[in-house]
Parts: sequence; C-alpha cells; structure tokens
Amino acid sequence: MTEHSLSHTGNATPFTANSDHGAPKIAIVGGGLTGLLTATLLERGLSQQKQDNAAPKASSPQITIFEKSRSVGRLATRYHTDKNTNKNWQWAFGAQFFTAKSDSFSQFIKPWLDSGLLQPWCAEVVELTLANDNKQAPDINKKEQWDTTHARYISTPKMTSWGRALADNLCLTTVQFKTRVAPLSEPKAVTDKKTELFDTNGASLGGFDWVICTAPNNQALELMADSNFTEQAQISQPQMQACYTLMLGWDGVQQLPETLNSKAKSATPAWDVAYVHDSPLDRIFIEHHKPAHSDLLPSVTIHARNDWSQAHVDNDIETVQAELLQAAKQALNWDSNTAPSQIDCHRWRYAATVTNTERKELGVLVDETHQWIVSGDWCAQGNIESCYLMAAETVQAITTAINK
Ligand SMILES: Cc1cc2nc3c(=O)[nH]c(=O)nc-3n(C[C@H](O)[C@H](O)[C@H](O)COP(=O)(O)OP(=O)(O)OC[C@H]3O[C@@H](n4cnc5c(N)ncnc54)[C@H](O)[C@@H]3O)c2cc1C
Repeated sequence: MTEHSLSHTGNATPFTANSDHGAPKIAIVGGGLTGLLTATLLERGLSQQKQDNAAPKASSPQITIFEKSRSVGRLATRYHTDKNTNKNWQWAFGAQFFTAKSDSFSQFIKPWLDSGLLQPWCAEVVELTLANDNKQAPDINKKEQWDTTHARYISTPKMTSWGRALADNLCLTTVQFKTRVAPLSEPKAVTDKKTELFDTNGASLGGFDWVICTAPNNQALELMADSNFTEQAQISQPQMQACYTLMLGWDGVQQLPETLNSKAKSATPAWDVAYVHDSPLDRIFIEHHKPAHSDLLPSVTIHARNDWSQAHVDNDIETVQAELLQAAKQALNWDSNTAPSQIDCHRWRYAATVTNTERKELGVLVDETHQWIVSGDWCAQGNIESCYLMAAETVQAITTAINK
C-alpha cells in the first residue's frame, strides 16, 4: 500500500507468494460502477461456486479495487450549499438516470428498488423548440411520460449514493483509494500467470492471479500499451465523444423563469425533462423535480449535444460556458429578474460511446495467457446497464478459465 492510499476495508495483500489454498487473488483497476459491480458479482459468483461444487476449483476470491481518486462510483454529483438557508443546489452532472432492459440487471437492482435507494423517475418529457426571436418564449410540446414499464431509474438522495452502497456491501474486497496503477508490463516468463502491479510511484501493489482493467478506453489503451496484451488492437475500436454539462441554480421558485415554473399562470406545460431542438443543447433536466429531491433549491442540469461538445472539446471552458449559457437563456427565456444565481460548467472529454447498429459490441477483452481482462461500459453501449453486463461477462470468463 502506498503512503497516501486509504483502505476501505483493509490493506491490499502484499506480493509474496501464490494465492493461498486456491483462492484467486484478483485486482480490479478502477472503482467506477464497472469495478464495483465486477467485485460484487465476483464475490457472489466465485463464492457460490465454492458452495455448489463438491471439489471446488476456486474458493472465495480476494479482491482489491485500486482507484486513483478518493471515491467510488464516479457517477457524478455536484452540490453547493446556500449559506442563508443551509439548503443545497444539486446537479447529477454525469448520468442522469439509467435503464434496466435485461432481466438479469432488473433482478439485480431489485433490493435497492425495494429499499428506495433506487427509484423510477416518471418524468414528464417535452420537446422544446427555440423561438427565432431571443426575447420570445420557446415552443414547448409534450412528448411522453416515462413510466414504470420502461423505467428510468435514479439513485437517491444523490446519483453517487448507489455506488457508495455497492462498496459498503462488499465483504471480500479491499478498496484502495488514491492509488493510480502504473501501465502493466509483459511478465518475465510467459508461463508466469501472476501479475505484479505497481503504482505510478513505483511501489508494488502485490501479485494477482487475475487483473481486470475497468478504466475508460483511452486510459485502458495506455495501461496495456507495453504489456503485450493480446487484445490491444480492440481497445481503440469504440469511438468516444465529449459532453459539456451546464449546471444552473436559482435562489427560490419565485426567481424561476416562467418556462421552468409550472405553477406560473402561463400556458407552459409542467415538465421535468426537455429535449431541445436547433441548439447546442441536447437535454435539460430539472433536478428538484426528481423523486426524493424536493428539498433542493431549484437546480437544472443541461447536457450539450455530443457532436457540438466534440467540435468544441479543446476550447477554453469559460468560452464554452458563455456560449452554452446564451443557448440556455434562449431555451429557458430568463430575464434579469429570473436569471440563475449559480452557474457552473463541466467538460467530459470521453463521455459517450458512439453506438451504431452495424458495429458489434466488443464485449470484455480477455487475454487468457496473462489472465488479464479489459472491461468497462465502452465494451458495450456505454451506459450503466453496460457496466453490469460487462461485470457479468468478466465473472463468466474467470469462472470458465478456473474450471478448465
Ligand atoms: C455526461 C454523461 C452523461 C451520461 N448519461 C448517462 C445516462 O443517462 N444513462 C446511463 O446509463 N449512463 C450514462 N452515462 C454513462 C455512465 O456514467 C457510465 O456508463 C458509467 O459511469 C461508467 O462507469 P465505469 O466504471 O465503466 O467507468 P468510470 O466511471 O470511468 O470508472 C473508471 C474508474 O477507473 C479509475 N481509473 C482509471 N485509470 C486508473 C488507474 N490507472 N488506476 C486506478 N484507477 C484508475 C477512474 O478514476 C474511474 O473511477 C453518462 C456519462 C456521462 C459522462
């Protein structure tokens, strides 16, 4: 363990010898949702296998997650407290919600739905078309209401809460924060299936039977570049696009522009999510309308279009913020009395995996010789459900290899 690393449930096991009593030692690089879900399913899958098999080939795994930041489940929430009221503005500035289209993921999330930590968001969705004249209100038309059959789920009270809950439920896993894993190198002997990992300061992080990399694909590319990873060429296949996110806040509902204030006398329909047309903006989400979010001060998150964001990805963030703010002013039609008091902007350089029907999903990339797996949402559709599906594929790959 490095001097700066914090341990969530204990220390990483040192690089000493083989895995004891056949318990596979598994390193997961990255404590985002893919990493957390992989650890969760490994704990369930490999431990289950131990109970099921009369002569098990695997016993309970020892898992270590190495995360370079200070927290797990990178799902992003930003908040700011108003000193006068002690209330918060809050923005889910990454994923706003997720779907569960597969039966297995639907089953998996059920306990958190039962506890209320995850909740469906039955949002009123509108289409918002800007007026030609900047001073005029936009045209707002009802599009649909999200329902519980094809539900969009959110985590409460924050989007980060689910990741924390997943981490808290891990019992065979150590999470080492503030530990950046250095690029892997080719083992000295091809037959040596144990990989010694190092942090970027050169300190050993231990020896592992399996290494699972869940970093975003541009980072995975660097991590595996000099390792002779058999699937290296595949990592760069998915195309990624940027996303700028604008976060706005108002001091109270009285200060909201009419476009956002369904209680106003206007003909504006009540809405929670807007798809924006003819604008750099893509979608607008009203945070304080989400379930279990009504205590918030009025907070609005706006994702810019991916193609617009990609075209402006290297621009100065202040310039981008000013352009997006102008577009938001036009979309939400505020004046000097109803302008937001809180304004922030975030650049996601690699936000969206470009999906098209012709391209087959990669699936997790398995190098059986070295016992390395490269995984992540970008190996599938680039969303939260993909994190789960790729975690399940990883467990399947390891289980199959152990039982050979
Ligand atoms: C703007 C935006 C909007 C989105 N909207 C939606 C949505 O509406 N619905 C939906 O389902 N999904 C959405 N997503 C996608 C969703 O957020 C991702 O699918 C999910 O967060 C990916 O998780 P992950 O664990 O695969 O990757 P990450 O969250 O990127 O986790 C990878 C982790 O690896 C760590 N790491 C990297 N390199 C190292 C290293 N060398 N050593 C140690 N740690 C390392 C990183 O710090 C990071 O924590 C959105 C994403 C963005 C950015």
